[in-house]
Amino acid sequence: MIEISDKVVRSTIFKRPSNSYKGMYGRVLLIGGNLNFGGAIIMSAEATVNSGAGLTSVATDINNLCSLHSRIPEVMFIDWRDAKLVEAIENSDVIAIGPGLGLDAQAKLLLKLVKNTVKSTQTVILDASALDLLAEDYTLLPVNAKKIVLTPHQKEWERVSQIKIPFQEDGDNFAVLKSLFPDNNGILVLKSNHTKIYDCFGKVYQNPLGNPGMATGGMGDTLTGILAGFCGQFSAKIETVASAVYLHSLAGDELFKKHYVVLPTQLSAKIPQLMKQFS
Ligand code: AMP
Ligand code: MG
Repeated sequence: MIEISDKVVRSTIFKRPSNSYKGMYGRVLLIGGNLNFGGAIIMSAEATVNSGAGLTSVATDINNLCSLHSRIPEVMFIDWRDAKLVEAIENSDVIAIGPGLGLDAQAKLLLKLVKNTVKSTQTVILDASALDLLAEDYTLLPVNAKKIVLTPHQKEWERVSQIKIPFQEDGDNFAVLKSLFPDNNGILVLKSNHTKIYDCFGKVYQNPLGNPGMATGGMGDTLTGILAGFCGQFSAKIETVASAVYLHSLAGDELFKKHYVVLPTQLSAKIPQLMKQFS
């Protein structure tokens, strides 16, 4: 087990060259936000934009259009019922699906579309509802992607892995990860107050940061957004995922010094400043 440290983050985040352009920093597509949970995908998008993704698109319910654009004018909107979504998936480097997605037939259709469209150059992040859909139907796993990152909290992992929370030990977590990903292209972010990150080769990172002020709705959606931004800019490997987890908690810890509760949107706003410190 390796404890994530400043060093890991410093080796991930690089100083941007002066001839940078947005095309160098990843096209990210976020899919989620049904009528009841539009805020979830908006929080993810806010985190992705603040994490430095070159271009961020959000495929969501049409009813979220105004709130999304008024909150984050930096993102592009796609109606998730529009056939153009296929092209958007094809043209993205990173696709994150799940925050506020829901579990209905439309949600399942979207996850299936991602599974059937992604290719071996792309990274897919599955969070929240997407993990619960996966728990019901493992064939929805987009195994063709270059990297697939699963970000369950312990209860979601219990549903996906069938391992009860008190028994979620490293050996058993690895065994499930290996069985889900015969090509070894999966990464598991098992979220808790001591989040662990596993690859299929036996590597485990543990996050030493974080605080109880972060125990609030939307915190995981924000992590998904940061992860998507990082995988778009930096290579999609376990150290990049570990860096995103660490920075998410570091931002939370900085806020917790002066705030009783840490709000996801305030956390996102801290990310650019922290990335600068590590670059
Ligand atoms: P989710 O349950 O999907 O909203 O994700 C919650 C996020 O907040 C995860 O990244 C957790 O690691 C983090 N978090 C929640 N509660 C705590 C806590 N008590 N200590 C540290 N991190 C926490
Ligand atoms: Mg969550």
